[in-house]
Order: sequence, then C-alpha cells, then structure tokens
Amino acid sequence: MSLHEAMLYERQEDRKVKCCLCARRCLISDGSTGFCLVRRNEGGTLFTLNYAKAVSAAVDPIGKKPLSHFNPGALVMSIAATGCNFRCQFCDNWMVSQDKEVAGNIFPPAAVVKTAKERNCQGISYTYTEPTIFMEYAYDTAKIAHETGLFNTFVTNGYMTPEAVKTVAPYLDAATVDFKGGGDPDFYKSFSAVPDVKPIYETLKELKGNGVHIEITNLVVPKIGDSMERIKEMATWIRDTLGRDTPFHLLRFHPDYKMTTTPATSVETMEQAYMTAKDAGLRYTYLGNVSGHPAENTFCPNCNELLIKRRSFEITRWNLTENMRCPVCGTAIPIKGKYHPSAGGFPYPLF
Ligand code: SF4
Repeated sequence: MSLHEAMLYERQEDRKVKCCLCARRCLISDGSTGFCLVRRNEGGTLFTLNYAKAVSAAVDPIGKKPLSHFNPGALVMSIAATGCNFRCQFCDNWMVSQDKEVAGNIFPPAAVVKTAKERNCQGISYTYTEPTIFMEYAYDTAKIAHETGLFNTFVTNGYMTPEAVKTVAPYLDAATVDFKGGGDPDFYKSFSAVPDVKPIYETLKELKGNGVHIEITNLVVPKIGDSMERIKEMATWIRDTLGRDTPFHLLRFHPDYKMTTTPATSVETMEQAYMTAKDAGLRYTYLGNVSGHPAENTFCPNCNELLIKRRSFEITRWNLTENMRCPVCGTAIPIKGKYHPSAGGFPYPLF
C-alpha cells in the first residue's frame, strides 16, 4: 500500500527521473527522494511514499478552509498525508507537513469516501499539508467521491505545474490558494524556501481556466509580511486577472513552529489590509483568525445589506434568497452550490 507508482514524471538518462507534479520539477537520482521527501526514485521508476496513508482526518465546516462562496455551511471530510514542498517557518501543521518519517494510518480512497458519507459530509477536502504532494491519493479519492455525488476541494500553496492542475481539474470543484506575506518573492525565499512565486499565479489562472471555483488567502505577518503596497498589488492582480468577485481572505498570523517570537498581527493592521483590498476593488474581502470581527460577514456590494453573518467557521445568520440574491436590492451574489443550513459549525477530528 505504501509504495505506489507516481503520476506525472519523466524518465531521464542514467535512471534519473524528473517529477512534474510541482513547480520545483525535481530531478531525482536512483535511490533518492525529491524535495518533499515523499517521492522516491527506485531504479528509474518514481514512487509516492504516502499513498493512502492519512496522517490526519477530520470533519470540518467548509468555512475552515476557508471557502465562503462555495456550498456555504457544508461539512467536508478533511484528509492529509505527510510532507510538503514548502518549508514555511510559521507552518501551523508543521508536525505533519515537515515530518521526516512518512507516518499515517492506512485509509484507502474508498474508505475515505465511505466515511465521508457516514459522517454526513457533502464533500472532501485535501488539506492541512500540501495536496500536490499526495496527488495520487487525492486523485483516486476525488474520482470515487464524484461518482457518489460528493464534491472535492484543495487547500493548496498553489505551487503546482500546469500539468498537475489539468490532471486533477476534472475532479476538483473548488480550491483555496494560500499566499503568504503579500506574495513578496523575498519573503517566500527567506521564510518558505521557495525560489520563485510566479508558478502560483500561473496555477490560479490554470484553475480558473479549468472551471475550478477559487478563493484566495494571504497571511499577513507583522513587519516582515504586512506591506500594504504588496496587498494592493495582489488585490489588483486578482481583480484584473480573476475578477473582482473572487473571494479574498486576509489571514491573521499567529506565532507557531520556528516563529514563536513574532507576535500575532494586530487587529489594526488587519483592518488596514482589509480596506486596502476593498479599495483595490475586491468586492468580497474577508478577515480570518479575527473571530467575531464584522469583516467575517458577507455584505451586499450594492446596498451593503448583511447577507451572511459568521462567527469563525459557523454561519449564524443566512439572509439570501433561494437563488442567491440580496433580499433588499436583488443583486446576484456569486455563490456556487447551495446553502447547507444544518451541517454544523465545529470541526472534530477522527484521528
Ligand atoms: S512534488 Fe515537487 S518537491 Fe516533490 S518530488 Fe515532485 S517536484 Fe519535487
């Protein structure tokens, strides 16, 4: 079960292989692993080491991803496998994403889908670590999930190849693409060991072109990743390339992993970031990790009516018509899927 031939690689001379799953495109010698440590070349064949090995599984409200304009209120079965293609010094899932051992419980794709159904989930989310580096597991699960009427979502750093996006897109309904530090290339190099941010923008265009619903997050880190100029640039790019209705979530940094001495981002800075993105023309901007703040809510961009009231991941008031319009002025609100009123607001882990 643990050694499974990888998708998307090319055989090279001298039994080397080139992995084409993520933008690192590692050239891997016989007997070695790629940067993510979970893909190994054995005699000129690339294997994934984390196939069907779930290191974490939980039932989450979809708002936790965060997805605010896709099947609001739904429950998603969330799974992760060991490993990551980034080395973020502030990772809040570092125990599983940066583990040198490929740990986990055997949880095959069909069992994931069956459990999701039993737990009354409407979809499956591939999350916590980077789904790109457990693509084979995610892909097989996503196919079965679609056959049974469940949707699939990725929470990803976006560092995928266009080939990887095209491969998974037929089974992928929504993706949350996470930026850090306003997409500053120096921030990515210094704090995530990522050489180039351009592939993330390419992934966003590719996802959009393949009809996947997208929501974007940006982690605002005090002093080193809170430039309002960067946030303005990012918001402007999103508006011009993906559209002003693209939901944009500004996430508050909290100390974790190797950055425990950096304080949490102030609410004042978060509010400044929120206004910067709104002023750049993004109509659905949200604040995350600032529980109880009014910027968790959805307002009508035309008349400012409060449409969806939230507290953290929970929807506490729904005020849209059946066809997703503002009840006051009739403006259409871009929400994909339907509202799931009784699904629940609190995550619970399975293991
Ligand atoms: S998924 Fe990315 S980091 Fe892992 S082996 Fe492939 S190219 Fe390298």
